[in-house]
Amino acid sequence: MLDSVLLALFLPCLGMSAVFIVYMCLLWYATTRHQPLRNGVPVKQVADKGLSALELEKLPRITGKELVLGTECAVCLDEIEGEQPARVVPGCNHGFHVHCADTWLSNHPLCPVCRTKLDPQLFTSHSPC
Ligand SMILES: [Zn+2]
Ligand SMILES: [Zn+2]
Repeated sequence: MLDSVLLALFLPCLGMSAVFIVYMCLLWYATTRHQPLRNGVPVKQVADKGLSALELEKLPRITGKELVLGTECAVCLDEIEGEQPARVVPGCNHGFHVHCADTWLSNHPLCPVCRTKLDPQLFTSHSPC
């Protein structure tokens, strides 16, 4: 008789503890999984992994004839023709073919010529006007 009473008390307790543990695990899993995203992964991505397509789109786009610092693309070592689309690295004004710049900058967030780092602020801040 006493045994069955104890068992009747013990089993619901065990069930509740199990539910509680599972709940805590899920909670812990959710927080550890989402925390890096909340703590500014985009900034880290810019610093370590290069630019996203969206960020590349924000870079100045000109044509070869508008280049001020020479017309040789340092990525493919080819000439950037006057009518070819080119991308300029903000800050140092070095220019590259659009596809060369995008390939390079999506892997390295710096200028392939002078190693000027692309400022993540460029993509987050807007002009004051
Ligand atoms: Zn090129
Ligand atoms: Zn440069």
